[in-house]
Amino acid sequence: MQPMAIIFGITSQDGLLLSQLLLKKGYTVIGFGRSASIRDNQNLASLGHKVQFFNGDVTDGDSIRAAFDQYPVSEIYNFAAQSRPGESWRLALETGEVNAMAAHRLFDLALHLRPKARIYQASSSEMFGLVRQSPQNEMTPFNPINPYAVAKTYAHNMARIYRETYGSYISCGILFNHESRYRARHFLCQKVTYGVACAKLGIINSPDKNERDEPLVRGAKLSLGNLGAERDWGFAGDYVEAIWLMLQQPKPEDFVIGTGLKHSVAEMCEIAYRSAGLDWRHHVISDTRFLRPLETGSTVADASKARDILGWTPKTSFKDMLRDMIAAHIERLKLQNGAP
Ligand code: NAP
Repeated sequence: MQPMAIIFGITSQDGLLLSQLLLKKGYTVIGFGRSASIRDNQNLASLGHKVQFFNGDVTDGDSIRAAFDQYPVSEIYNFAAQSRPGESWRLALETGEVNAMAAHRLFDLALHLRPKARIYQASSSEMFGLVRQSPQNEMTPFNPINPYAVAKTYAHNMARIYRETYGSYISCGILFNHESRYRARHFLCQKVTYGVACAKLGIINSPDKNERDEPLVRGAKLSLGNLGAERDWGFAGDYVEAIWLMLQQPKPEDFVIGTGLKHSVAEMCEIAYRSAGLDWRHHVISDTRFLRPLETGSTVADASKARDILGWTPKTSFKDMLRDMIAAHIERLKLQNGAP
């Protein structure tokens, strides 16, 4: 019989990439998401009509229940989240409802309605917060410092409690930043690669806006926050393979997933602009309005457990990932400008 998986947050970057992977592996894929988002999401077109969509909101337990009643799923992937740490101060309550309580409710409904199903919970390296040791692995203590990370830590701990108390199969992936051409536009890596595309095409004031509703590139300059912030960035296409592998293990466990390589925002800019033959210092400025109230520490993954148990290592380089994202922006900007 074909395996059947449900993906909560089908319109997410990871939802789309995991769907592609599962369809290739012969799964039936159910995509759970808010109806307007499914209708308006252009990336989903790449899935053709192969995913069955289910309209629902994860904060509404009845819609999760209805999906579990209707589909005899064997795997459950929970990507649904208010996923912007920087915005989570402004959206603190919503972040708690979606990232913490909805995940908890999902574990509970699955325990009663789909007790044999295996669950993946999207945890985050943001949970390490003001880091207490480096690099970070599954044993590193959490020290979350923004509402996003606090809510993710709640869901992460609840997953462990359901595992230990009820024997639920829930594996949490503690994923470090991962990116692709499908990443939501307001994330840093998308801003930088969009900035490169604009510079390459000579666009002075960009059509795409930032979170303050200003052109992302204004007067030929891209405004970013803390250029010294350091992160471990990897390619999302590689990371969804690790996510799938986690649910194929005999017992549920948590895994750190990252590249083990750290870059600053300034280094990202340097590599991205240089790959297009440009000097980032002529195109990027630091703007204090984009600083976070509290900056997460410099995080970098020790993913040796994933390597040893899952046999997983990242394949795509930072530079190749950035290049593909720049190419995607250039294609889209040219189409917007009516190029053939
Ligand atoms: P993303 O593209 O930002 O997508 C978030 C998803 O959550 C969207 O599909 C969104 O749907 C959905 N969602 C939000 N509120 C919802 C609600 N009330 N009901 C139903 N769906 C809701 O996420 P991503 O970057 O692929 O990341 C996937 C998951 O991994 C997220 O949980 C994220 O927090 C976590 N994570 C990501 C990274 C990373 O670097 N990408 C790192 C660590 C952890 P709409 O389209 O309707 O808004």
